[in-house]
Amino acid sequence: MFNKILIANRGEIALRVIRACKELDIPVVAIYSTVDRDSIHVKLADESVCVGPAHVSESYLNIPHIISAAILSGCDALHPGYGFLAESAEFAEICESHDLTFIGPSAPVIRLMGDKVKAKEAMKKAKIPVLDGTGIIKKEDEAVYFARESGYPILIKAVAGGGGKGIRVVKNEEELKRGIEHAASEAKASFGDGRLYLEKYIQDARHIEFQILADRYGNVVHLGERDCSVQRRNQKLVEESPSQAVSRALRNRMGESAVRGCQAVGYNSVGTVEFLLDRETGDFYFMEMNTRIQVEHPVTEMVTGIDLVKEQIKIAAGNKIGYKQDEIQIRGHAIECRINAEDPGNNFSPCLGVVNGLHIPGGNGIRVDTHIYDGCEISPYYDSLLGKIITWGENRDEAIKRMKRSLDEFWVGGIKTNVPFHKKIINNAFFLQGEIHTRFVETQLFLELKLSS
Ligand code: ADP
Ligand code: ADP
Ligand code: MG
Repeated sequence: MFNKILIANRGEIALRVIRACKELDIPVVAIYSTVDRDSIHVKLADESVCVGPAHVSESYLNIPHIISAAILSGCDALHPGYGFLAESAEFAEICESHDLTFIGPSAPVIRLMGDKVKAKEAMKKAKIPVLDGTGIIKKEDEAVYFARESGYPILIKAVAGGGGKGIRVVKNEEELKRGIEHAASEAKASFGDGRLYLEKYIQDARHIEFQILADRYGNVVHLGERDCSVQRRNQKLVEESPSQAVSRALRNRMGESAVRGCQAVGYNSVGTVEFLLDRETGDFYFMEMNTRIQVEHPVTEMVTGIDLVKEQIKIAAGNKIGYKQDEIQIRGHAIECRINAEDPGNNFSPCLGVVNGLHIPGGNGIRVDTHIYDGCEISPYYDSLLGKIITWGENRDEAIKRMKRSLDEFWVGGIKTNVPFHKKIINNAFFLQGEIHTRFVETQLFLELKLSS
């Protein structure tokens, strides 16, 4: 096992990793930027190192400072969390060349799956259904030709995209031509890579993803699916497991595909294979793979009883997965709401300030993963995620009831959050019936809000 782990992240995920390390008896070193000096992850770590000023390029993305912090504090491993450097193959390589184990898959797999076009090619080769699309668009003509062949609407996507950014739907040739130009400059600005590809747009599909666990000896299992169809602007808002749309037979088929895909690329850590499920035909298509722990991993932990972060650390240390696919049981139902510091009444614009009074929900079946505390400051430099409320129930109905009361119990003063919006989702008739798809929020929910105003 490792002697000491540096956590190259902040916020709720840094706290999540600290908790796993404490249970594994591994000392942890936190890093922080100057504005984060009073953060809870700094207080709870065994040691901490300031790596630079607020701006991410100078602190949480500052590779020389992070590596120096790890070496000087005597760490032999580094956990990247999600976001920031979690999917940087270059960073994983730099860690390894300094004798620091990067707690994630090996650099070549990160590089392969981080290129969405190459990832799709690799999956296609492994006989996993992928969405119809192009390779990297080099000339406008190629895009126009594909669109004419396959018909509109079409999606323009960034090869290096992530976090729901860099995706746009186009409905005709004019929009396509204009869209390519804009998308390329946007992608260049956001991801430092302006390359684009096109994909057939599956309207009102469900986002179904499979949690994977793979060790360094070729053992790969899946821990069932998460339904992340409730999204706003391609960003997940509510996630649940299991999905109402996935029968036992479909779970076996999709899970088997996800496992096969991971075996084909030599995957070796926790990871997630994302699919779109066509509600009309029941067909599913590989969309992308995330080579890290995900924001919504707790719903899987709640229904399987497996601690994914501890497993991830143990696998990186060379442990074997100690169980077979048929030993993994899904029990009950879990739902997660992502709580963001944003004002749903003002186009979801970020809400900053100082937390003045806080009440965290509790009771049977409730888990809250958050880094906020009374008096802490929500800074403009980072993601607006304040934390996550996760509820578990014997069945979906009980998980929903617990989520309803949790959202009612949750109270934070001084800043606005999207909790009122979550209450609308969780009380919506379509949601209650499990009738959700990736445009649920913009169609059903906004329609309901319009009718009631
Ligand atoms: P998850 O499925 O884990 O919820 P998200 O797509 O919501 O994944 O991203 C998780 C976090 O990582 C978010 O904070 C998001 O902003 C960030 N993120 C993901 N991909 C990228 C990327 N390519 N560039 C910058 N940030 C990213
Ligand atoms: P990211 O890396 O930003 O997570 P994804 O490729 O996973 O990008 O797509 C994010 C979301 O965009 C999906 O969850 C889905 O809602 C939507 N989306 C992506 N590709 C398609 C598609 N071909 N058809 C319909 N919706 C899509
Ligand atoms: Mg995705």
